[in-house]
Amino acid sequence: MADIAVVGAGVVGVSTAYVLAREGHRVTLIDAAGEPGTCASAGNAAQLSWAYGDAMASPTLIRHLPAIVLGRDPAFRISWQADPDFLIWGLRFLANAPAARWWANTRTILDLAAASRRELAALLVETDISFDYRLAGKLHLYGDAASFRAARVTVDRKNTLDLDQRMLNRETAEEIEPALRRYQGEIAGVVYTPGDALGDAAAYCRALTTHLVREYGMITLLGRRVCGFRTAKNGRLCAIRFLDREDIAFDCAVLAAGPGAPLLSHDVPEARAIRPVRGYSLTIPLAVGAPRVSLTDVKRKLAFAAIGNRFRVAGLADITAAGAGFDTGRFDALRTAASSVLPEFQVAGPDDTIWSGERPTTPSSKPIIRPSRRIRGLYLNIGHGMLGWTLALGSARRVADLIAG
Ligand SMILES: Cc1cc2nc3c(=O)[nH]c(=O)nc-3n(C[C@H](O)[C@H](O)[C@H](O)COP(=O)(O)OP(=O)(O)OC[C@H]3O[C@@H](n4cnc5c(N)ncnc54)[C@H](O)[C@@H]3O)c2cc1C
Repeated sequence: MADIAVVGAGVVGVSTAYVLAREGHRVTLIDAAGEPGTCASAGNAAQLSWAYGDAMASPTLIRHLPAIVLGRDPAFRISWQADPDFLIWGLRFLANAPAARWWANTRTILDLAAASRRELAALLVETDISFDYRLAGKLHLYGDAASFRAARVTVDRKNTLDLDQRMLNRETAEEIEPALRRYQGEIAGVVYTPGDALGDAAAYCRALTTHLVREYGMITLLGRRVCGFRTAKNGRLCAIRFLDREDIAFDCAVLAAGPGAPLLSHDVPEARAIRPVRGYSLTIPLAVGAPRVSLTDVKRKLAFAAIGNRFRVAGLADITAAGAGFDTGRFDALRTAASSVLPEFQVAGPDDTIWSGERPTTPSSKPIIRPSRRIRGLYLNIGHGMLGWTLALGSARRVADLIAG
């Protein structure tokens, strides 16, 4: 059994630490932040989307590209950058959009999601951590008949993979989720996925870290920023370098730094394939009568979820430069879009919380899970994009298998 450092305590890093510790490794979890789950994982839409692993680069998105480029789609924004990595990412994104590539990428993501689902089932038996996990089911609301009809092809394909998805009319969907009766958006049809679940990703990171320290003696090194990796003459990892303290010797490490990974690209050039796609969320206290089933408004690209005693809307996708920060005006855009369909978001309350985070996104939407090309003993578990919460435990399993050889 090895001494393994996991760099990054978001959903991917904490899940990796869990699978490795369970296999008997001695794990040290390192993060620049003072506590786990504060970065991309903190305020996400909470969806464990076992059946919705759709890659972002798709024929649908490409058809929509002119509107996005001209700034006519309120959900998407592109900040053009004079950066070769941005250009390469954009070209590779376009190359992943044709239907066959899109489905191949989606299939890979769905396989990883299935692995996550199995790992989560085991985790729920083995631990007593609480993170508002719930088998909520999900309703995808289609605003126009043409896009609803087009969804059938994908639904049929997913059903052949044993992912239970059903095409419903509005009336049947309202029987499943009565709160839809007061939904003010257009609903031409609904895809229902009863098996999709949800949970609070930040609470998961905190609770699982505590569990790992208590049950497996995991060491945490929080508030410490990693600035690189030191190698021996033979190219093998020998230590992790920090910004503000001396190096620490390790002979094996997993990089799970999410959107922070490209900043380490001098040692890990693979991380240059990741761009931040910024999203926003708004969380309000859960009111009586709020939807309990998760909702996704396909046209507005909004996801609604009841998480414990809170109700959250998440959305927007801004392809920005790394470290560009967030735009406060986008919170207003999110509130306007959400309140146009569900009135509870209209008036800001004192207990509302706003959040923004970067989805670490690859051109294919598939995460990078592999040994580092440059440094032996270093493994990459990065680039989980829109689905890091869903894919975290499956990715952790893959990395553990790679380390086991
Ligand atoms: C608006 C929005 C909604 C989303 N909704 C969903 C959803 O419903 N379902 C879903 O599956 N996914 C969703 N996602 C995506 C998901 O949240 C991300 O894919 C996931 O959080 C990525 O996890 P991570 O662990 O890779 O990154 P992070 O959570 O960002 O963790 C990386 C950690 O590494 C640390 N770190 C970075 N650099 C360094 C360094 N140099 N040294 C030390 N530590 C470092 C950071 O501090 C951070 O804690 C959503 C994302 C957004 C933005």
